[in-house]
Amino acid sequence: MVTKGKEIYRGKAKSLYYTDDPTVAIMEFHDDATAFNGLKKGSIQDKGHCNCQISAIFFEKLKERGIRNHFQGFVSEREMLVNCLKILPVEVIVRNIAAGSLCKRLGVEPGVVFEKPVLELCLKSDELGDPFINDDHVLALKLASAEQLSEMKEMTLKINEILKEITSAANLILVDFKLEFGVQDGILYLGDEISPDTCRFWDADTKKVLDKDRFRNDMGEVTDAYQEVLQRLRRLT
Ligand code: UDP
Repeated sequence: MVTKGKEIYRGKAKSLYYTDDPTVAIMEFHDDATAFNGLKKGSIQDKGHCNCQISAIFFEKLKERGIRNHFQGFVSEREMLVNCLKILPVEVIVRNIAAGSLCKRLGVEPGVVFEKPVLELCLKSDELGDPFINDDHVLALKLASAEQLSEMKEMTLKINEILKEITSAANLILVDFKLEFGVQDGILYLGDEISPDTCRFWDADTKKVLDKDRFRNDMGEVTDAYQEVLQRLRRLT
């Protein structure tokens, strides 16, 4: 049994704690929710529990398929044990279908299906509002090495294929999502979370939105959507 130590960091939706093992941390998932770069704040009942469980299901399935990630096990229903990573300040976004900021930025109709996944990179910076960056920025600002960048991209495309398979078995469409990577002992791991906070999921039949867009756009039934995603994924395990 690990001992929960001091808080390392409190983020918008999660906190990280030291343990008695310096290589391992506890990631606690909160019900707090923010959107539009922190302009909208609120709480989604039971979100911490759902996101912890949903992320764990995805991480376990990804591990089975050879994708190195930080998930090690549960501490409680909303706390997981993770590798203590140095997170690279780059967010990797994958888009299978047009939605959200891409539609506003590029004038594309929501729902347009891309033949090939669209990969985007953002600088992880709350102060700057996570601006878009390209490969040259990543290298010039030394946000990651060239090897790390190519490994992140390669892993991301594999992760997209695996997540599409899993979500499709749960009758969900994986519209887009955001990943974060980190390093421990020179090895790159997938970190952070994979949940309705960081992915867009639509019901495959009705196209009902089952993710944080319900909170962003005041669509109601927010908790129900998170619970629905969890239930569908649990039925697969
Ligand atoms: N996303 C995220 N964190 C961010 C920005 C985006 O988890 O800081 C996720 C978001 O939930 C969506 C995808 O990345 O699944 C693409 O988001 P988009 O760029 O459309 O931004 P948004 O519309 O969420 O502002």
